[in-house]
Amino acid sequence: MTVRTGQQYIDELNDGREVWYAGERVEDVSTCAEFRPTIESVAHLYDMQHDPAHRDVLVADSEEFGESIGRAFEFPRTAEQLRLKREAYITWAESNCGMLGRSPDFLNVMVAALAAKRDFFAAGGEERAQAVADYYRHIASKDLFLTHALLDPQLDKGKLRHEQSDPGICLRQVDQNADGIVLDGIKRIATVAPIADEILVWPFPPTFQAGEEDYANVFAIPMNTPGLKTVCRPSFTRHGAARDFPLSSRFDEMDATVIFDNVLVPWERVFINRNIPLLNRMYRDSRMREYTAHQTNARLEVKLGFVYALAVRLAEAQGLAQKPDIMEMLGEAAVRVEVIRSTTRSAELQASVDSENGLLYPDLYALQAGRALGPVYYPELVNMVRKMGGGALMQQPVSMAEFDAPTGVAMEKALRGADISGQSKSQLLKLAWDICGSEFGSRHVLYEMNYAGERSALLAGVQREYGRKQAWLDHLDGFLDAL
Ligand SMILES: Cc1cc2nc3c(=O)[nH]c(=O)nc-3n(C[C@H](O)[C@H](O)[C@H](O)COP(=O)(O)OP(=O)(O)OC[C@H]3O[C@@H](n4cnc5c(N)ncnc54)[C@H](O)[C@@H]3O)c2cc1C
Repeated sequence: MTVRTGQQYIDELNDGREVWYAGERVEDVSTCAEFRPTIESVAHLYDMQHDPAHRDVLVADSEEFGESIGRAFEFPRTAEQLRLKREAYITWAESNCGMLGRSPDFLNVMVAALAAKRDFFAAGGEERAQAVADYYRHIASKDLFLTHALLDPQLDKGKLRHEQSDPGICLRQVDQNADGIVLDGIKRIATVAPIADEILVWPFPPTFQAGEEDYANVFAIPMNTPGLKTVCRPSFTRHGAARDFPLSSRFDEMDATVIFDNVLVPWERVFINRNIPLLNRMYRDSRMREYTAHQTNARLEVKLGFVYALAVRLAEAQGLAQKPDIMEMLGEAAVRVEVIRSTTRSAELQASVDSENGLLYPDLYALQAGRALGPVYYPELVNMVRKMGGGALMQQPVSMAEFDAPTGVAMEKALRGADISGQSKSQLLKLAWDICGSEFGSRHVLYEMNYAGERSALLAGVQREYGRKQAWLDHLDGFLDAL
């Protein structure tokens, strides 16, 4: 049983995994310059679990394990446990300003959610249910860090997977034997894949149709499984002082395409096998969303609060913070932070016990509101930062060290603001650029717009499943009847 330290996490990364960057195989991801800064940021999260200031929130004494586990792994039975889960998500997110979207807690709570619904998987056979339960115990007891890949390559959306010009592009089962199933094909987009311990694959969206059975498999394997290749996008890590690249020097989560070249997945790691009805129900009936959205909304609260605070400081730096139109804009930002902040707390207050497993689930509808609004709010707040930065964003020195160069005195005058030195204002603007102008910043806007899936599909799902709909309709109909 382990609550890992950062060093333990780093030490286990050089495991022979096949990661490709810029056409070359990365020999050791743990020392690769493109990944190392983010690895250190993740390692810091693990170290926080051992910090007396955070331990009681980040670590749980588990009934299931009889020992300590990371808080995200805990099955919540009480309102206090649910609150502590949220506190743990927020504590980790604060250490990276909410910029690590795929910190380990995200997938850890997802796997806990799947295991909490062990009986759901039993519909595909008792072995599959046991595999899910054993996998949960495996990653919780080793405190592992997972990536996940859901989607197929974009290809032709008008055709099913097996109808594509090459039916072998999308990941599918090509064989099976006594040891497991053999998979071949491609999945995307696996954020943090190069620096994670394992990958969980579950095909999405849950709209599989007859004929696509070979593609309907849910499983998890270590990143060093033979035949698994990870191909990276260009790195957005900026090498330099944290003062010059406050976020992009530390928090770039690499996104990757994962290629399966006849990969053997052992039976004990197969959770759903060629089972379309079960796969199509998994997203909803496993109730994973209640637990994962609790984490993602808590993280987003931290990120929005951070961007809001930056917009306020930029307004102050220009002596604009009390101007009515700027106050109105900043008020709009504050309201957005509060809406997202309210979703987790409201979901906890309206939590209910699932009679199947006795666990407490935060309210889905409150959480879905956050998932649907986040993709709108985050770009709006980033735009406020862009507006407040104005042309000064284009006046920044290459390095903050230039304030000590011969041109430093002039730069100090050129960048000075209201009650703020040129150097301090420049520091704010360097941060602003990382949020609203850099490649790192652009990727974050794209991330918030997409990480919970395509937004129109999410909203259609909200309308389809909205559990309070009938009560609202009854109220309306009652009012009309009484006229
Ligand atoms: C930074 C980042 C990180 C990510 N990390 C992960 C990860 O860790 N794991 C993972 O599994 N996934 C990840 N994703 C993938 C993410 O879930 C998808 O990008 C998201 O679900 C959107 O799917 P898509 O990219 O296929 O876009 P599409 O669904 O192809 O959408 C592209 C455009 O086409 C439109 N469109 C799509 N279908 C239709 C239709 N039928 N009719 C009309 N218009 C349509 C959409 O509205 C959109 O404008 C990540 C994405 C990003 C951007």
